[in-house]
Amino acid sequence: MKKFYTAIIFTIAVFLATATQATETPSVTAVIGGTIVDLEGKAPLPDAVILIEGERITAVGKAGDVAIPASAEIIDATGRWLIPGLMNMHVHLGLKLPGKTEAELANETEAELALRMADNARKILLAGITTIRLTGEEKHADLALRKAIAKGQTIGPRIFSSGEPLAITGGHGSEKGKTYYDGPYELIKAARKEISAGADWIKILISGGIATNGGDIAQALMTPEEINAVIDAAHRFGTKVTAHSGSSAATNIAIDAGIDCIEHGYFLDRKTLRKMQKHGTWLVPTILVSQPALAPFFIEIGSPEWYMKRRESVGKQHWKALQMAIKEGVNIGLGTDQLPSAPTEGTTATVREAEYYVEAGMTPLQALRSATIQTARLLDADKDMGSLAAGKYADMLVLDSDPGKDISALRHIKLVMKGGRVYQNRLNQ
Ligand SMILES: [Zn+2]
Repeated sequence: MKKFYTAIIFTIAVFLATATQATETPSVTAVIGGTIVDLEGKAPLPDAVILIEGERITAVGKAGDVAIPASAEIIDATGRWLIPGLMNMHVHLGLKLPGKTEAELANETEAELALRMADNARKILLAGITTIRLTGEEKHADLALRKAIAKGQTIGPRIFSSGEPLAITGGHGSEKGKTYYDGPYELIKAARKEISAGADWIKILISGGIATNGGDIAQALMTPEEINAVIDAAHRFGTKVTAHSGSSAATNIAIDAGIDCIEHGYFLDRKTLRKMQKHGTWLVPTILVSQPALAPFFIEIGSPEWYMKRRESVGKQHWKALQMAIKEGVNIGLGTDQLPSAPTEGTTATVREAEYYVEAGMTPLQALRSATIQTARLLDADKDMGSLAAGKYADMLVLDSDPGKDISALRHIKLVMKGGRVYQNRLNQ
């Protein structure tokens, strides 16, 4: 009997030893030879070594300064440029735009929606976007997908989501079959429901928009009483609030109420932008939605004439607002309101959006920051992402040339890594 117990204890000891060993020595990857773009504007770091253990970066330095373990798996990025994974702050994985696609998806079931969203998430990750913020989805499929990706059941970017957007009767986003919320009481209740379901943000629709004909884009459709109530309710839970707003009037009310972020800002005037700068309010421009680069796409999907006209009518003012926002030093986080990976003028929507920022007045480095470290700050996640630094997630892209000099370098992504795992590798092509 004694022998039997000894055998059991021995087995347990061996098991524990192996288990501890497994957690103590995770696989190490060393990315060598590449040049790291300095997002703070300092000189790039050539011939860099990035050590990765598990899903995080453990060391970053010059070759010779960082010891590479003999067992490390080597990724040779010699002659290439290294940046953190791109982040896109205005995404709808279940996007349905007016026209053919909306008609095709009219009878989509919840299961079909979830699978379509998972397919979009996979495409987004493979295109080099490692983190997204969802600004309005349906049926909480977004929250289920966020969980599935975190569990490794399916692949996709890291997801921050605002769950279902809060729309008022007759306003933007109000269509047949959707739920509307009116008055402070209903909006507070709705915000709390989203938070309790697991939403990371609350999204409110406070002016009209392009994609639906619910209300004027320049009007403050949601009342100050409603805006104040919903923002206060969310902030008490530590949840940030962002608003769809094309209107200066609506944005002013929202800034006074302590809003964290404004989406689109089609008609924002200089006074409002200065107020945003002073309050540190973020702007996610989604400039792509009103600019010529997307016109062929909208024609192809059979967008109705009223929609095309509404886009064009907004385009010039939207562009001016973006130029002013850049000049006034407003915090800008990149977002597209279009699938981040969608083919757009020979690249993806995300990269084309960044190129537009440079055309509107940003330096290439500023545009790159708006899709990396700035977006990480917008999410309050800069401890975990947004730059290539020890302690952060190993979310990284390898490029052919320096995006700090020419933002179009983002058009040639050679390798996509998320959490230390390589999802796309064209280094030998
Ligand atoms: Zn949107």
